[in-house]
Amino acid sequence: MSRTTVATIHLGALRHNLARLKELAAPANVMAVVKADAYGHGLERVARALDGAAEAFAVASLGDGLRLRAAGHRQRIVVLSGPDQAGDIAEMQRLGLDAAIHHESQLQWLSEASPSRGRLRVWLKVDTGMHRLGFAPERAATVRELLAAMAGIDPDIGLMTHFAESEVFDGERTRQQIERFQTATRGLAGPRSLSNSAAVLGWPDARGEWVRTGGLLYGLSVVEGKTGADFGFRPAMTLSTRLIAINTIKRGERIGYNGLWECPQDMPVGVAAVGYGDGYPRSAVAGTPVVVGHRQVPLIGRVSMDLVTLDLRHALEAKVGDRVVLWGCELPAEIVAAQAGTISYDLTCGMTRRVLFVEDDQ
Ligand SMILES: *Cc1c(COP(=O)(O)O)cnc(C)c1O
Repeated sequence: MSRTTVATIHLGALRHNLARLKELAAPANVMAVVKADAYGHGLERVARALDGAAEAFAVASLGDGLRLRAAGHRQRIVVLSGPDQAGDIAEMQRLGLDAAIHHESQLQWLSEASPSRGRLRVWLKVDTGMHRLGFAPERAATVRELLAAMAGIDPDIGLMTHFAESEVFDGERTRQQIERFQTATRGLAGPRSLSNSAAVLGWPDARGEWVRTGGLLYGLSVVEGKTGADFGFRPAMTLSTRLIAINTIKRGERIGYNGLWECPQDMPVGVAAVGYGDGYPRSAVAGTPVVVGHRQVPLIGRVSMDLVTLDLRHALEAKVGDRVVLWGCELPAEIVAAQAGTISYDLTCGMTRRVLFVEDDQ
């Protein structure tokens, strides 16, 4: 096989992670967030692995809802940014998708929705401090009344908000968002949904009836200094390739583009077949760990499009053809992400089309 960069998706890990989330969030229901092609793991693949176990899926856009219905999934599917244009409403009714409603412009389109196509289920999204999508808290009760009066809308209206910083477990911002949400929705009927992954871990008061979890489903954490494994989750993706060359480079010579890294002694430098053309972050700095065989070695020099260079001074047994793991079971993506100035979600979402995806039951 000529293709060497492989993303292995661990279906057993996905199932384990959902079960663990359900246990942590109980009695709340879990919406499995599968937006952005299931954080790069493959939408249909992840939905198939979780079918039957996930009470609902959440996606960013109507198109992803269509893909899930086309693949035969019958669960509730919540479109987190709702209809983007008037024509989306009829399509959402036809597909039986739930719509998050966050903006005045959507109300006009909804008022024209015909009940003959089936009543649309909606979630009223309240902006409690994220300041991205949602109605101002003072508008929540009024908008809920407007929605409840519309013939094409299911009267069981959900209430939703999203946290900006729930990974800071004792943070003032999240506490304020929870208070604003409680104040805005006091006395209003309907299921509540506040928590993303980090909030499930750190904000038990904010569970509501539905949690919306993405990251932890894939075994990924955004809590500073913690990996998904620290909370009992398993990585659902392992990115691996092969060592395709080992060269002895002389002391004082510089490695790769712009010669960013200088050899302090004569030393073996490994070359692995992966680069930013596969989605490995170009911003990963020298010292970022990479696993060769069973040993962690440091990345050196600049990540290039197809290749990375590795310091093999402490892996003298390494040989051409050895398996190289960039992240996954042997090496948490969170650690690589920190070395690249980003978060683990960004890494898994960044896989490009030349990466070969395979599955196992681990
Ligand atoms: C992406 C997203 C989530 C899931 O967040 P995680 O940190 O991946 O659990 C939940 N709610 C909304 C509105 C989102 O956009």
